[in-house]
Amino acid sequence: MSDLNEHHPLGFQLLQNPVFNKGTAFTEAERNALGLRGLLPPHVQTQEEQVARVLGNLRRKDSDLERYIFLIGLLDRNETLFYKTLSDHLEEMMPLVYTPVVGQACQMYAEIFRRPRGIFISKNDAGHVREVLRNWPFHDVRVIVVTDGERILGLGDLGANGMGIPVGKLSLYTTCAGIPPQCCLPVTLDVGTNNETLRNSPLYIGLNEPRLRGEAYDALIDEFLTAVRELFPRALVQFEDFANNNAFRLLKKNRDRTCCFNDDIQGTAAVALAGMLSATRITGQKFAGQKMLFLGAGEAGTGIAELAVAALVDDGMPEAEARQRCWFVDSHGLVVRTRTDLAEHKLPFAQEHAPLPDLISAIRDLKPSAIIGVSGKPNTFSREVIEEMSRINERPIIFALSNPTSQAECTADEAYRYSNGCAVFASGSPFSPVKLNGTTFVPGQGNNAYIFPGVGLGVMASESRRVTDEMFLAAARTLALEVGVNDLTQGRVYPSFERIREVSAAIAAAVAEIAYARGLAMHARPANVRAQVESLMWKPEYKSYV
Ligand code: NAD
Repeated sequence: MSDLNEHHPLGFQLLQNPVFNKGTAFTEAERNALGLRGLLPPHVQTQEEQVARVLGNLRRKDSDLERYIFLIGLLDRNETLFYKTLSDHLEEMMPLVYTPVVGQACQMYAEIFRRPRGIFISKNDAGHVREVLRNWPFHDVRVIVVTDGERILGLGDLGANGMGIPVGKLSLYTTCAGIPPQCCLPVTLDVGTNNETLRNSPLYIGLNEPRLRGEAYDALIDEFLTAVRELFPRALVQFEDFANNNAFRLLKKNRDRTCCFNDDIQGTAAVALAGMLSATRITGQKFAGQKMLFLGAGEAGTGIAELAVAALVDDGMPEAEARQRCWFVDSHGLVVRTRTDLAEHKLPFAQEHAPLPDLISAIRDLKPSAIIGVSGKPNTFSREVIEEMSRINERPIIFALSNPTSQAECTADEAYRYSNGCAVFASGSPFSPVKLNGTTFVPGQGNNAYIFPGVGLGVMASESRRVTDEMFLAAARTLALEVGVNDLTQGRVYPSFERIREVSAAIAAAVAEIAYARGLAMHARPANVRAQVESLMWKPEYKSYV
């Protein structure tokens, strides 16, 4: 290192630092002033030319996994160019940096590992978590995404390989809502893994131990959250891809003492509710008149139902009546009062009804207007299920939200074909438009990225001390309002991702308003909340250094 400092340290170090590096876009003046001359090929490129080269390189790759590796490599080299490429080509890039390809990347994380990113806290760091977090080089941390890797997408326990998820989600906070990259901190808590295949792999990057449970696990989480509050007092913590039981427990325990939320529960709830609100604009029915039947009663399903109940109550319906609009089928059949095997989070939705064994019998009996798949089990919205829904409803609402694509309850093609084009369809992972009898149907993607970046920006702008359900309800209603008539006529229940920064700003303003109104903000309400929100949004443009 001392050799480096004797020469032109700045220029060389700038090229190695992804935050400052502009690569071939360093100007003549910068090359002269910063000791860069000769370290770069002579032709100065524009950022647009660089993006074109990135796209060419990306599209020449043979597989999505190679594209993912290439994009993360770019992030490690030149952050601004990475975000410019993502922002300008979001529809193409989103499935690569997030679901579905990030799922594949997590499964192969150890094999494709190149450079570390984020903070790894292992169970062996207990008692020293604060010191570990202090190694992070940026101090104004505003958003932390943390996972313990136990339920990665619909793929199960991937242990420390789950780091791909916080990294991917935070890249969407920046791209979709302009949260500055240096304000984002990805964290993986390595508490071991019960995935034997991973543990038997010599390349596995995590601890080769079974998962930590019980008091020691809880103590590590507490220590982590305490350290976050001390070191990064304005940070929002997003819990991500924890297994069902821990997810509910950790949220309940911490939501009133830490600025935190769980995206799998609350973010999913808001995006799905927004989709339902838009779907009823297509079917021409009232949201209050819907009967929703969920397949899967986990974090996503019960989270959506809780927020749907909150929306109905907010519209004036008694809570007991609102709960009767939400029915669940889990792996043991219809969720009813007489069952003795129900986890705590399912109890508020256990209905007075005779037991029914499966989805098709529940559809025949209950005649729902919407089925919402959040089971992680593919092919469960079978032809029979979709045909039955179409027999009962003129325009059945069919949301197959399980991720990644391989786990979706049905494909877009199946939903439109088996319903003869009548289904109002949305999915968790992206599906291409479907042509049927001369009509093109554009499936909506109920991607949480419509919600969490805007919520994060709203929290950052207001410096809110907490994240509340009221904020998610406001986020859902705001998102639904952003869906235009043009979208609806194509069958889309979400706006185009091209408008995501605008959509996120609108959501952020709605969230910040709640923080100001409820006394949760750390400062007084500015005169123009939307303008304040927009002024904070980072843009992937090169700064001039001379
Ligand atoms: P979870 O593990 O908390 O819940 C899964 C539920 O499905 C459990 O209640 C389980 O009993 C039930 N289940 C399993 N097999 C079933 C079967 N054959 N029939 C009926 N029920 C069955 O998981 P989660 O966090 O709720 O996520 C579930 C799925 O939703 C995942 O695939 C996840 O990727 C997806 N998801 C989508 C979005 C989105 O689209 N925006 C957001 C979050 C989660």
